[in-house]
Amino acid sequence: MEKLGKIASAPVSRRKMLAAGVAAGSASLLAATGAKAMIKVSQASVAYKKVATGDHNCGGCKLFEAPSSCRFVEGPISSDCSCRIWLNKIG
Ligand code: SF4
Repeated sequence: MEKLGKIASAPVSRRKMLAAGVAAGSASLLAATGAKAMIKVSQASVAYKKVATGDHNCGGCKLFEAPSSCRFVEGPISSDCSCRIWLNKIG
């Protein structure tokens, strides 16, 4: 019975993990090809935060477009912020 409870809650976690994986994969593909995003994703869907995560900030991300936008995430983007799909500009 205890196992059923864990199985029943698994699809939500898998869905979130899948969405995060698709977003990261799409962002990586964009960065690798240099293509422009035709449709951008919401800031909430990539957990955009108004603070940097360690040394990961938008200014150091491959998808950042100065002065204040991102190739993959919609809305104004600050170079001091970050999100879950940060891609190192160097490398
Ligand atoms: S870290 Fe910033 S620049 Fe990089 S993908 Fe996320 S919002 Fe865009």
